[in-house]
Amino acid sequence: MRRETGLLMAGDDPAGGQWNFDHDNRKALPGNVRPPKRKRFEPDEITRDVMALAAARFAHHFGDLEPFGWAVTCEGALEALDHFITECLPRFGDYQDAMKTDNAFLYHSVISPYLNIGLLTAREVCEAAEATYDNGAAPLNAVEGFIRQILGWREYVRGIYWLKMPGYADSNFLNATRPLPAFYWTGGTDMNCLAHAIGDTKRHAYAHHIQRLMITGNFALLAGIAPGEVEAWYLLVYADAFEWVALPNTHGMVLFADGGMLASKPYAASGAYINRMSDYCAGCRYDPKIKVGEKACPFNILYWDFLIRNQALLARNPRMAMPYRNLAKMDAAHKSRLQAEAATFLDGLGDGYTSDTQLTLEL
Ligand SMILES: Cc1cc2nc3c(=O)[nH]c(=O)nc-3n(C[C@H](O)[C@H](O)[C@H](O)COP(=O)(O)OP(=O)(O)OC[C@H]3O[C@@H](n4cnc5c(N)ncnc54)[C@H](O)[C@@H]3O)c2cc1C
Ligand code: SF4
Repeated sequence: MRRETGLLMAGDDPAGGQWNFDHDNRKALPGNVRPPKRKRFEPDEITRDVMALAAARFAHHFGDLEPFGWAVTCEGALEALDHFITECLPRFGDYQDAMKTDNAFLYHSVISPYLNIGLLTAREVCEAAEATYDNGAAPLNAVEGFIRQILGWREYVRGIYWLKMPGYADSNFLNATRPLPAFYWTGGTDMNCLAHAIGDTKRHAYAHHIQRLMITGNFALLAGIAPGEVEAWYLLVYADAFEWVALPNTHGMVLFADGGMLASKPYAASGAYINRMSDYCAGCRYDPKIKVGEKACPFNILYWDFLIRNQALLARNPRMAMPYRNLAKMDAAHKSRLQAEAATFLDGLGDGYTSDTQLTLEL
């Protein structure tokens, strides 16, 4: 796609001599780095009318109606893009995977709704980013990483959807059948990372990619939540949600329900990853360093239970070799304890209620 579009190219070679600079990216956010305040837009008259209608008819639906800060015109979307390009893009790559309790947006662009409804085009966004590299205002690791999200990931998931639908959503490779826990609709859980990722979602109709993938998504994967229920949730709660983009991300990337068509391995992670990339664990009643028992982080228990439960399906995946080698070193008594604690924890999640129930209740 870089060759086809000419973006970040030096002749036939990639600018900077490499296609990908991820090894420079994805750092945790140090305490002394303060992301810029985000640009917000006052609701205009039409928006206020629609907000009044939504308040009257859907007051009990998931999500906060106010404050509403999205742009609703092409001019506004271009202003939002400009703000991102000048204030945030230079540090986008560095802190792309970081998560922070008091900041939902960090250095992300927050432009996906504008792209998806056509207020911005993918090409103009990529060209605006490229120009900052050309004029020395942003480093290549940031610009390449950002352009790859749009030119790479966004186009790729779009391709999967149009190539594989209908039928793509029917698979359930990991045989996941558990109902969606009720806390996905309330944020009411002791797991601080989930409470914050769901809280951000409720407040802003936004959570950034790593919150979607490694917090709400990771939990759904590890807990074995039924794909249809997880997909319905993602499609309902985000301002940027459209089936062509939400479905492959959820079904393929998050849940591995397609058996590896979209992603080469499940994005399963224990509490150690969340602790490394966020400040959530400091305020949690669980401890990411404890593996079993009352204080153990549920992601730790569920991670190993997930590997044990799906061993027959995943152990031959070369990218899962390392976790399964570690599992092989575990003694049988410890494995049984993990499985028993996981079963107790999962039973404690209750029956949950599905998006259908939610909609029926609200309508
Ligand atoms: C389970 C799950 C569901 C998702 N559902 C949606 C959805 O309904 N609509 C949607 O637009 N994105 C979706 N994404 C992708 C991604 O999380 C959002 O595009 C991104 O968080 C939007 O925030 P941003 O504009 O600040 O993105 P940035 O981090 O600033 O990235 C820039 C742009 O790259 C594009 N992008 C980045 N990653 C992806 C990706 N994996 N797939 C498609 N585009 C990507 C988006 O257009 C985004 O605006 C989903 C991801 C997951 C894991
Ligand atoms: S300890 Fe575990 S549950 Fe708590 S915030 Fe950290 S990762 Fe989440």
